[in-house]
Amino acid sequence: LRHLVLVLGDQLDRGSAAFDDFDPATDAVWMAEVAHEATQVWSTQPRIAVFLAAMRAFRDELRARGWTVHYRALDEHPHPTLEAALAADLAALRPAKVLAVKPGEWRLAQSLPAICRETGVAWAERPDRHFYCDADDFEAWAGKRREFRLELFYRWLRKREGVLMDGKEPVGGQWNFDAANRGSFDRRGPGLLPAPRAFPPDERTRGVLALVATRFASHPGRLDGFDWPLDPAQARAALDDFIRHRLPLFGRYQDAMWEGEPWLYHSRLSVALNLKLLDPREVVQAAVRAWEQGHAPIEAVEGFVRQVLGWREFVRGLYWKRMPGFLDDNALGAEEPLPAFFWTGDTDLACLRDALRQTLDLGYAHHIQRLMVLGLFALLLGVRPRAIHEWFLAVYVDAVEWVELPNVLGMSQYADGGRMVSKPYAASGKYIQRMSNHCAGCRFRPDEATGPRACPYTTLYWDFLARHEARFARHPRTALQWTHLGRKPSEELAAIRRQATELRAALAAGSRPEHGPKR
Ligand code: FAD
Repeated sequence: LRHLVLVLGDQLDRGSAAFDDFDPATDAVWMAEVAHEATQVWSTQPRIAVFLAAMRAFRDELRARGWTVHYRALDEHPHPTLEAALAADLAALRPAKVLAVKPGEWRLAQSLPAICRETGVAWAERPDRHFYCDADDFEAWAGKRREFRLELFYRWLRKREGVLMDGKEPVGGQWNFDAANRGSFDRRGPGLLPAPRAFPPDERTRGVLALVATRFASHPGRLDGFDWPLDPAQARAALDDFIRHRLPLFGRYQDAMWEGEPWLYHSRLSVALNLKLLDPREVVQAAVRAWEQGHAPIEAVEGFVRQVLGWREFVRGLYWKRMPGFLDDNALGAEEPLPAFFWTGDTDLACLRDALRQTLDLGYAHHIQRLMVLGLFALLLGVRPRAIHEWFLAVYVDAVEWVELPNVLGMSQYADGGRMVSKPYAASGKYIQRMSNHCAGCRFRPDEATGPRACPYTTLYWDFLARHEARFARHPRTALQWTHLGRKPSEELAAIRRQATELRAALAAGSRPEHGPKR
């Protein structure tokens, strides 16, 4: 055996550099399903199923080409971790070399080459061509910067790639149509929404669903509506469906929320992108073409391109620049445990309940639910960053650490002290009221900070401002927000802070670590 080509669950890229010189006569592919990847954080059933089903589809496609794939299915080997499974197979197969695309996760990028070293097999790494920007490109852009801002990175990459450019200028005369991306629905709600194209499980996927339901029965999540795209053809069909039916209103309603409506105008493409079933260039080009053909307005297309070419590449660059230290960031000194209801959705707060139940059931929530409902609650409460990071990594079908970690620790929790965003995403219940219909059916009032009907977001918001006054009150980007604190009468503020303390104590008393990740 010349090359054993190692393929991880999030490397299902048919055009991977690891296959460039693949010779079926002398080379073989190696893939393994291991329990540790599902249990190191308490993964939801949909998340586990997405990975296993897409891996098996990839395996079968390679085998149909006549390639040898040494595939270790979950229930067919005794090894708990990827490292143990690899070590056992290296001893048995004795390849001259293990070939792999650089793992997307810092932990595996250390441990897998180490296993090869220990077993005396050469490890050769190839670049991940899936992304627009590799670590060296990001490093060149970052230079000596200590703080990193999406807007600057995004403009640089858009110019370099010539995306939505008119010579040296952005099309439409503006880099950013963010102001047109903050619409909410009126009282009548979103009306008839275009249902996203569904991909009902085939026989192979049904086998995976049965396996997950038995083997991971105690994990949260439902599998009955499982319909994610699992191979490149399905991923392209999902892209096409989004471009046709949802992209035109994506921009306007990007930040809006509506009770019981998980998808709205979002693309649902993060899974296909993160598993590398879909090339981000193809996604960006399809959106740009829709604008060129007059099918979608610029604020929708620019807003979407900003997410895929901007945020997605930006967070990956930051991940590799800042790991492993990123994981230990806790600039705001947050030490509270994660409330138990994050694992059950069992809370009276309507917005939080909707976002949590949907997350746990489907493994999906859109960006504003993640940032301004779930992340916001943890930020205001002061949850230990590591605990909220592990929760986010466990629950979403699209959760892979390089994208989850910077979004959680940097963007939503400000744990990096502002290296990634210029101010904390702190808001009261009134923001949620403006962007959704949740408050209408909730027993709490977003404009009340004390008393039995006080919205916990609003109570905790004022408490957050007070707790972090020294840090933010004189900072040019945050001073304005903190001036409101100075206008609160001191007795009122004292009452708010008492209520916040009681809330924190009650939530901490109810937190049940046994539901949390098993580390
Ligand atoms: P759309 O709203 O349709 O957006 C289109 C695409 O843009 C997405 O598919 C995604 O690939 C990309 N994108 C959008 N926002 C971001 C972002 N902030 N960072 C990187 N890419 C982005 N995304 C993940 O893929 N995995 C995660 O584990 C993850 N965790 C998150 C945790 C928090 C606290 C926050 C605030 C955001 C997180 N995101 C994560 C980013 C974003 O919320 C999801 O990518 C998005 O909700 C996926 O749904 P969609 O495909 O319908 O996205």
